[in-house]
Amino acid sequence: MNSKKDSARIIVQGILKEIEERSAAEKPDPDITSGFQAYLRKIQDSVSLDCSRSIPQKYFPRIREILGEEIIEVLDPGKLGSLVFKNRNRIHQVHKKLATFTELYRHAHKVAHDSLDQVSRLRHVIQEMVESQIAHVQEVEIFEQRMLRSQLLVDIMLEPFEDGIRRIIGFLGAKQFDVYLFDDDRFLTNELKTDGKVFTYNKQQEDAPDLPEAVSAPTFQEVQETIYEIPLIVEGKQIGHYRICRQIKDDFDRERWIQDVAFITPVAARIIEANHNRLHAMKVYTDDLTQLYNKRKLNEQMGRLFKQFKTGQKKLFVAMIDIDKFKIFNDTHGHPVGDDVLKQTALLIRDGVPYAYRYGGEEFCAVFYGLEKQEVIDAMENLRKRIETTPFTIADQEHHITISAGIAEFETSMNAVMDAIDLADQALYVSKEDGRNRCTYYDDVKGRRAMENSRLLQKYTLLEEEVERLRQVVAGKKAAKSR
Ligand code: GH3
Ligand code: MG
Ligand code: MG
Repeated sequence: MNSKKDSARIIVQGILKEIEERSAAEKPDPDITSGFQAYLRKIQDSVSLDCSRSIPQKYFPRIREILGEEIIEVLDPGKLGSLVFKNRNRIHQVHKKLATFTELYRHAHKVAHDSLDQVSRLRHVIQEMVESQIAHVQEVEIFEQRMLRSQLLVDIMLEPFEDGIRRIIGFLGAKQFDVYLFDDDRFLTNELKTDGKVFTYNKQQEDAPDLPEAVSAPTFQEVQETIYEIPLIVEGKQIGHYRICRQIKDDFDRERWIQDVAFITPVAARIIEANHNRLHAMKVYTDDLTQLYNKRKLNEQMGRLFKQFKTGQKKLFVAMIDIDKFKIFNDTHGHPVGDDVLKQTALLIRDGVPYAYRYGGEEFCAVFYGLEKQEVIDAMENLRKRIETTPFTIADQEHHITISAGIAEFETSMNAVMDAIDLADQALYVSKEDGRNRCTYYDDVKGRRAMENSRLLQKYTLLEEEVERLRQVVAGKKAAKSR
């Protein structure tokens, strides 16, 4: 703190010196000088008038006091004897001059005395001002430091997680910085990474003996470096802890550093938790293999989109996409190659449509909002062609696949999202029936599906009738036998 005060003093003294230099260059105030001179003239005039005939008695003690006894004695008329009469006039003039000089001197002396008094008072004032300025500069410095710290906290909160963590690491001068979160959901915590580190936390230490034990209070270990472990608490609930390693150098001020840790920890806990939650949400909505959104996300987004569609003017389409003969592909090239193809296909689909989801297995779903029917059909047709012509290179081997798709438009009369998905599925079925590697628009085949359905129904009715007839034949034969 003292060094702070010294630096503030240096700043203020610098300012003072500058002011002094500037004021030295200033000319004295002409009013003050001429006022002083005018006053002196006034004294001269008044003494002159006073002493015009004879020297009043009051001047003699003053002359004596200022110029000494001798000068009075020398001019004492009693001692001058006969010289007096001859020089009466000159003696009067000398006395008058002495009186004038004495009065001027008295006044100048008083002014000088008052000025010195004022200078010393001013010095005192300046000194007090300097001290208060030093205190002020110090306050400003402390305030600035607080502002910087607040700014740091804000930045950490607003920046992307990785940048925020890096700032915290920098602020604490940490050589190593490990976060351990309670492993209530290992599946999720494994994903929380910083600087390539996996952050896991194990409360019980059962199946992961290499993980550190939980701490519930700050714990020090100090050898060549400080290892500081501190619980991470968000809204009163411990979410884990972190462990900071910091090299001990000569200038390491541990007390201050601990204060810094305590200062930054609540914010660290918050961003770590927020990131954890973000990853959790991502995990819940993302398909692991393809990194596309999953069916859960589709359902939620479609729910919202469907409501918007029903109250708005924009059109909404859905396309169901299915890889052709993928079972055979898997059987021929192996499941891992199949997985790779799925991943690469997902990328093509994501690039080709506005919203893409993995619906399950080798099925995908695409959603188009605010486009016209022909734009949707074109987009799907382009995607189909792109997949057909793309060589999927896996372990130096080229593979080719095709997709089939079914497209359907949402209608305002529909009650649920699934209504349109069902229609798209039926159109997809037609694509498969017609030989695969094609897109079918539901409206173009709905008659055909209906006819097929009624034909199937007819066949089913015929079959039922046939079964019934056979049953009766069998029953008849049984009856004949028993007779
Ligand atoms: P179709 O042209 O009629 O669609 O034929 P298909 O073989 O693709 O149809 P089916 O639905 O009978 O088979 C789907 C196959 O997709 C079964 C399974 O082997 C494969 N599959 C589903 N999910 C995955 C996956 O995640 N990875 C891999 N490698 N294969 C998968
Ligand atoms: Mg399928
Ligand atoms: Mg298939």
